[in-house]
Amino acid sequence: MAGPYPVPNATVPYWRTELHELDSHRSTPELPRKQDIVIIGAGFAGAALSYYLLKDQLPSDKPSITILEAREACSGATGRNGGHLRPDLFVAVASRMQARGLETANQVALFEVANAKAVTELIAEENIACDLQPVTTADSFVDAAEAAKIKKLWDVMSKLDCPTLKSVTCHGSLDAERVTGVRDAKIAFTYPAHTLWPYKLVMHLLERAVGRGVNLQTHTQVHEVSETPDHEGYWTLATPRGITKAKKVIFATNAYVGGLLPEYDEGIYAARGTVCRVVPTSRPPAQVPLGSCAVEMKSPASVDSYYGLRPDGSFIVGGARSTFFYQKRDEWYRNYDDSTLIESAAPYFDGWAARTLAGWEETPTEVDRIWTGIMGYSADDAPHIGHVPSKPGLYICAGFNGHGMPNVLLCAKGLVQMVKDGRPFSETGVPACYETSADRLRKISQVAAARTTSRARADIYLKHSYGS
Ligand SMILES: Cc1cc2nc3c(=O)[nH]c(=O)nc-3n(C[C@H](O)[C@H](O)[C@H](O)COP(=O)(O)OP(=O)(O)OC[C@H]3O[C@@H](n4cnc5c(N)ncnc54)[C@H](O)[C@@H]3O)c2cc1C
Repeated sequence: MAGPYPVPNATVPYWRTELHELDSHRSTPELPRKQDIVIIGAGFAGAALSYYLLKDQLPSDKPSITILEAREACSGATGRNGGHLRPDLFVAVASRMQARGLETANQVALFEVANAKAVTELIAEENIACDLQPVTTADSFVDAAEAAKIKKLWDVMSKLDCPTLKSVTCHGSLDAERVTGVRDAKIAFTYPAHTLWPYKLVMHLLERAVGRGVNLQTHTQVHEVSETPDHEGYWTLATPRGITKAKKVIFATNAYVGGLLPEYDEGIYAARGTVCRVVPTSRPPAQVPLGSCAVEMKSPASVDSYYGLRPDGSFIVGGARSTFFYQKRDEWYRNYDDSTLIESAAPYFDGWAARTLAGWEETPTEVDRIWTGIMGYSADDAPHIGHVPSKPGLYICAGFNGHGMPNVLLCAKGLVQMVKDGRPFSETGVPACYETSADRLRKISQVAAARTTSRARADIYLKHSYGS
């Protein structure tokens, strides 16, 4: 068997400590022999796709749909992320502007804002209990040289026509620490965001989909999809439980796409990250001022840690990249193993609050849970949405770059219009740079062939936001 595939015995994230009854569900004891649509993967993308495919559908028009999930439902990146719903309104806009121009940078930023709004509206409409909290978030910089650089960037961007910057406030050295609560913050940019319990959101969507007739098959890894459809137009999917066939197949497999579609092997690859839960063990000195924050150390694109504050006063903290990123590349790059920890990262979180939060120097905390997760990084920075090139009936919705929460929902909704109604990508409302194509994959291969050193590889990765 080729792969990569999800590994067994994954570390257990905090989000998976209250399991839903569908967590290991199989709607039928056997796989259906044939169906209209198979979705591979039951993370946020797979759940959102199944939700929209059957929403407002007359019973007579309902396609038959099966979700095949290798492990438990929502056991991939969505079930092990940082819990942020945080459109990037400034730093990523600036780097995307440099790479793709202002128009595309604005288009993506506005799409992320629209996604965040769509997620919060869906949660309200469906009355989903997933701890959704509106927060003010911040990108804060503690290194003086980096603070000076980012201030210059802010000054340049502020003069451009950049709509999302209107929601961002810049705090200089006089009040950055007070506003963010980050010790020694030299500059900070605050803007609105949300935190939430991603597993609960996804499981609700899956419950709705199953209630509308979706056949959910967990613990069913797809290890091969046929190269071509059969004479009746069905694609064949091979699993350890036998084969099943579908007219249309949607790959919502995140970092693992290349295991089933080798043409995406360079385009989407694994980046292993780590997150933990930090709990104060005595009364904290004061409430931290923000419900969410990213702390940047050396480079504007290098988030060293990020946190979301839970309603119970604990922190979900991710990052620690300074402990492994350049020194231990094998620990993250193309590493698909979320069953083990990133060894050098674990001690980083022990003193995290005392080192990072102003006034917390003497406050004892403990890491009560730590886990790893696999992000699906897109080599050219944009997710891949749409028709798999040259394979009519196959679709992809993957490569969300450690930043899926403000992207997945409207990508899935847009892709559903293509799958269900045959609409062209250009009518879906998804940013043009997200459309997957043979041309994109070819360019990525050319760039990959030219960049062979680990440093160059790392630089590609640095361009992306990191699990926030
Ligand atoms: C450590 C970490 C922190 C993050 N923090 C944030 C954050 O705070 N905010 C944010 O916006 N984003 C964050 N992200 C990114 C975000 O979680 C992802 O972008 C998003 O969850 C992707 O959703 P998905 O459904 O595409 O992927 P996943 O949730 O990974 O779902 C893919 C599913 O496909 C299944 N699968 C794969 N291969 C096969 C196969 N061959 N057969 C059957 N099933 C298969 C997997 O088991 C998995 O369940 C983080 C990610 C990680 C790992």
